[in-house]
Formats: sequence, structure tokens, C-alpha cells
Amino acid sequence: MKKITVISEPAEGVAGKTGSWRLKRPVIDNARCIRCLICWIYCPDDTISIKEDGSVSVDYDYCKGCGICAQECPVKAITMMEEE
Ligand code: SF4
Ligand code: SF4
Repeated sequence: MKKITVISEPAEGVAGKTGSWRLKRPVIDNARCIRCLICWIYCPDDTISIKEDGSVSVDYDYCKGCGICAQECPVKAITMMEEE
């Protein structure tokens, strides 16, 4: 059977950077984070990454603020904060 793999990366669409749609932003408490990357697996926009220093970060240019990452984090290290 032929295997098909699809890898997507966040990119600017016709409406611009999708992060401008966001009403709430996910804020990661890296002191609490256990680096499981479950948030990365669930993020529909592929905006979560692990940096060279080992911390987990969000690309706010493309994060739409859906809150799935905060919902799925097993140690509740992500808080959804109101955008100002
Ligand atoms: S799901 Fe939570 S604990 Fe796991 S990497 Fe993401 S923020 Fe860290
Ligand atoms: S709020 Fe949604 S789009 Fe933003 S990082 Fe979390 S899962 Fe991804």
C-alpha cells in the first residue's frame, strides 16, 4: 500500500498572518512544562516549536488562539490570556 505523508507549515494566506484573528493567546509556563509536545501534536496550525534552549514556544504570527493546546496539556502549563 502506498503511504502518503503530509507535512504542513504555517504560512501567510490571502488574509495575511492568521495570528491577527486571535482573541486569546496561549502563554506557556516553561517552569511547569514537561516537554511532552502533546500541544505540538494537537495544534492545528503547527505554531508550537521547541527552541534550542529546550523551552517550548508559540509563533504568535500564526496562532489563532483556539485553545486546544491549553486543553490538552497534561500538566496545565498553558494559560489562555486575553489579547489586549
Ligand atoms: S503539552 Fe504542556 S507540558 Fe507538554 S510540551 Fe506542551 S506545554 Fe509543555
Ligand atoms: S491556541 Fe490553537 S493555534 Fe494557538 S498554539 Fe494553541 S493549539 Fe495552536
